[in-house]
Amino acid sequence: MEYYNSNTTIYINGKFEKAVDSKTDLYGQSLHYGYAVFEGIRAYRTHNGTRIFKAREHFERLKRSAELVHIPFTWDIDDLIKQTYKLLELNNVKDAYIRPLIYCPPAMTLVAAQESSIMICAWEWEAYSGNKLLKVGVSSYERPNPKSTPVEAKVSGNYVNSILASTEARSKGYDEALLLDMHGNIAEAPGANIFIEKKGRLYTPPLGNILAGITRATIIKLCGVLEIDLIEKHLTVKDLKHADSAFFCGTATEIIGLASVDEYKFPLTWTESAGSTLQRAYKCLVLEKQDYEVII
Ligand code: PMP
Repeated sequence: MEYYNSNTTIYINGKFEKAVDSKTDLYGQSLHYGYAVFEGIRAYRTHNGTRIFKAREHFERLKRSAELVHIPFTWDIDDLIKQTYKLLELNNVKDAYIRPLIYCPPAMTLVAAQESSIMICAWEWEAYSGNKLLKVGVSSYERPNPKSTPVEAKVSGNYVNSILASTEARSKGYDEALLLDMHGNIAEAPGANIFIEKKGRLYTPPLGNILAGITRATIIKLCGVLEIDLIEKHLTVKDLKHADSAFFCGTATEIIGLASVDEYKFPLTWTESAGSTLQRAYKCLVLEKQDYEVII
């Protein structure tokens, strides 16, 4: 994947500059300790032009992530949204992945930063991933205990855990990992939340030990619109392995069905699942094909 080339422009601390001319400091606290926060946002080419999906929610979560780990957040969210649209225009990208990152200046100390910088970059990203189903393995890695690091914050350092789980899953022949929380309940994928379906009802783990996914929240609202029963509760691996169907969801992932978890194959045909219905509705929503925005 080419993230940038000699023409790519990034936004950095109020200015637009060439990605190839941008520098960061090898003594930065973020690089050494994973002390940075970030977001993953999508823009879609819609009949209303290029639209950043849930821009405000993402920038608000970025702010909250920074606050949770005491990284100064000094920017105006409306302005950041405006600058992000400009960034897409300058790079002439329409279906895009957008990555804002807040990082800290040089420091080898373990105390909170007094200053921070923001950079936003974007690259072309194929619209809608399609109908592949994932083979998932339950990870030997757990999600971090929220008492060790705020899991509801999108902190760079937390993603070492995600890299370990994904790498392990791939080495075992799975497409992706599923991590449990410190109590052995189902938590989430390395970069996505999970829903399971049983007897026509959907279940998803409650907030607390997982990232509060914006796609997760969107799906919960869509369930209301589509009159799909949705229950937030702690789920065990046994619940998962007795489920009819399951899916992961996230900004990058969108909604993707699971074929299996470990040796267990989900019995319901994906196209007949509630997940598949939601997948279609989500696609309409991000592409602004129907007026769901009015409702949610
Ligand atoms: N969990 C984790 C650990 C993630 O990294 C992500 C991706 N941001 C998600 C869930 C899904 O969150 P969202 O729907 O906001 O992209």
